[in-house]
Amino acid sequence: MADIIQLLPDHVANQIAAGEVVQRPASVVKELLENAIDAGAKTIKLIVKDAGKTLIQVIDDGKGMSVTDARLSFERHATSKIRTADDLFQLNTKGFRGEALASIAAIAHVELKTKQEQDDVGTTIVIEGSEVTSQEVVVTPKGTSVSVKNLFFNIPARRNFLKSNTVELRHIIDEFHRVALVHCDINFVMYNNGSETFNLPISNFRQRIVNIFGNKTNEKLVPVEEDTEVLKISGFVGKPEFAKKTRGEQYFFVNNRFIKSAYLNHAIASAFEGLLRSGTHASYFLNLKVDPQTIDINIHPTKTEIKFDDEHTLYALLRSAVKHSLGQFNIAPVLDFERDASLDTPYNFNKKETNTPSIDIDRSFNPFREDIKVSGRQTTAFKPTVNNWESLYIGLESNENNDPNSFREVQFESEESTASIFDSDNPVAQVQTTYQLHNKYIVSTIKSGMLVIDQHRAHQRILYEDFLKNMTIKEGVSQQLLFPLQLHFSVQEIQILNKLKDDLEHTGFVFSNVLKESLEITGVPISVPESEVSIILEQLISDVENEVPDAHFSATDLLAKSMAKSLAIKTGQSLERDEQEHLVNKLFACKEPNVSPTNKITFITMSVDELDKKFI
Ligand code: ADP
Ligand code: MG
Repeated sequence: MADIIQLLPDHVANQIAAGEVVQRPASVVKELLENAIDAGAKTIKLIVKDAGKTLIQVIDDGKGMSVTDARLSFERHATSKIRTADDLFQLNTKGFRGEALASIAAIAHVELKTKQEQDDVGTTIVIEGSEVTSQEVVVTPKGTSVSVKNLFFNIPARRNFLKSNTVELRHIIDEFHRVALVHCDINFVMYNNGSETFNLPISNFRQRIVNIFGNKTNEKLVPVEEDTEVLKISGFVGKPEFAKKTRGEQYFFVNNRFIKSAYLNHAIASAFEGLLRSGTHASYFLNLKVDPQTIDINIHPTKTEIKFDDEHTLYALLRSAVKHSLGQFNIAPVLDFERDASLDTPYNFNKKETNTPSIDIDRSFNPFREDIKVSGRQTTAFKPTVNNWESLYIGLESNENNDPNSFREVQFESEESTASIFDSDNPVAQVQTTYQLHNKYIVSTIKSGMLVIDQHRAHQRILYEDFLKNMTIKEGVSQQLLFPLQLHFSVQEIQILNKLKDDLEHTGFVFSNVLKESLEITGVPISVPESEVSIILEQLISDVENEVPDAHFSATDLLAKSMAKSLAIKTGQSLERDEQEHLVNKLFACKEPNVSPTNKITFITMSVDELDKKFI
């Protein structure tokens, strides 16, 4: 039989290898920025169009390349950064594999322009799918410019796999942050679709953090410094009271390289133990310097994970350094988690009457706010969608003599109304129709057996339908704030909020004075406590940024989901009996009571038969 093994042609091998290095536009950005840093640039410009799908260009003023090097730089395993395997343990460059340019050129249209300081003219090379299509002499400033167009043009599957521009741009900005944060001695500029998104002047680390994340960040930072034989730590942690719901602002840099480490992250989390509200995460920006001999950065192709010789010591040092800083800056005693939210509201505002227009369900329903109960005294009609819950309560005797209309005008603040839903001839039993189990589930009797409701999910469903309705019929009810609320965000966050502004206003938010890094809120939806506003918006921004899949993306839906998630009563919250009953009633008045907005079951039922079987 004939031989069948062949060597793959170079361009195919390159394409395969490229898959390792280039997963998405952000990977290209990372590689090009790192090359510019390795070239000793003082100013680096990043230009992207359509989230990098159309163009990614990096221009630097670094040392440039000779004609021969320019051509060689696109060969696989061509690098100027290491010569022997031993050099791997003395690395002070970002790159060392010599794969990036070869990989990128295999799957895109690349144009390189480069010139060294001492030369009069430079070199330009155009290379498409690993084929050099032209190489010429060019007049160009000192340094290098690499532009990458039509990424994955020859791998349609990869191109189709890319996420929406919002998501891909988010990844690019993340990479940009990671690189720019740890190189504050370099001026970074980023343009997105022709407009300048970042311009980060040469500065110190603190200023760089502030320039990236907004002026509000400054007051949140607590310095961390530690200098030992094995490890030098410098940087900042965020004050616990500013901890975020998302893990967005967590950065470790080891020898100027961004890394991810669940283990070291745990060290920080444990230093913050007892200081953070549940569900929030500390921010940190920490530079660790260790002897390059004691780490191996080579274990992951995209180089964000690294292996330390002595992880345990690093863990202990890091934890104690952060603890020390938090203590030294007197952070702990200032905290007061048991704050009474009503103290935040001016007393004359507490009693303020809101004008509730007549609507067919009580959109102000929020069982956890005393002041809502006051406004709830107004006769708010409650019309359950009979079809939905009918099946559950089928055959129940109604105190209203089975008149179907009696369901139509239930005053749901009163006990009589709930009595009509729950089966009993005995008035005492009426009051005992719901129980709360472990501050998590609401248990209730139904004709066929019992009903168990997940309180958090159920409330999410109720709020979600409420918000969605307000947004689509565009008549969210707003409560005017006595004092406008000033909130600070980063430039990108403001851009996201701006896009959602119309929808937010339909829910009842009123914005004024939207500036580059801050905005004022003069009105909020009546179901939203003032103290929750910033958390809701923060959650919303993070949901938009992480939104997947994109195909079914609807801003309105996402907003309703996000707000419902933020505002829904939590597991662990104890509910009064009438609050439990409201929740049950409201849930079964929903269009889709069976599932939460994220499609999780909201309740289960268990029939007497099923229970009987368990007692056999
Ligand atoms: P690596 O960075 O791992 O060496 P690359 O494929 O990224 O591999 O780059 C190959 C070589 O091309 C580098 O080693 C460097 O000598 C040269 N090079 C790439 N980008 C630049 C740049 N912006 N300025 C100067 N030289 C560069
Ligand atoms: Mg490189």
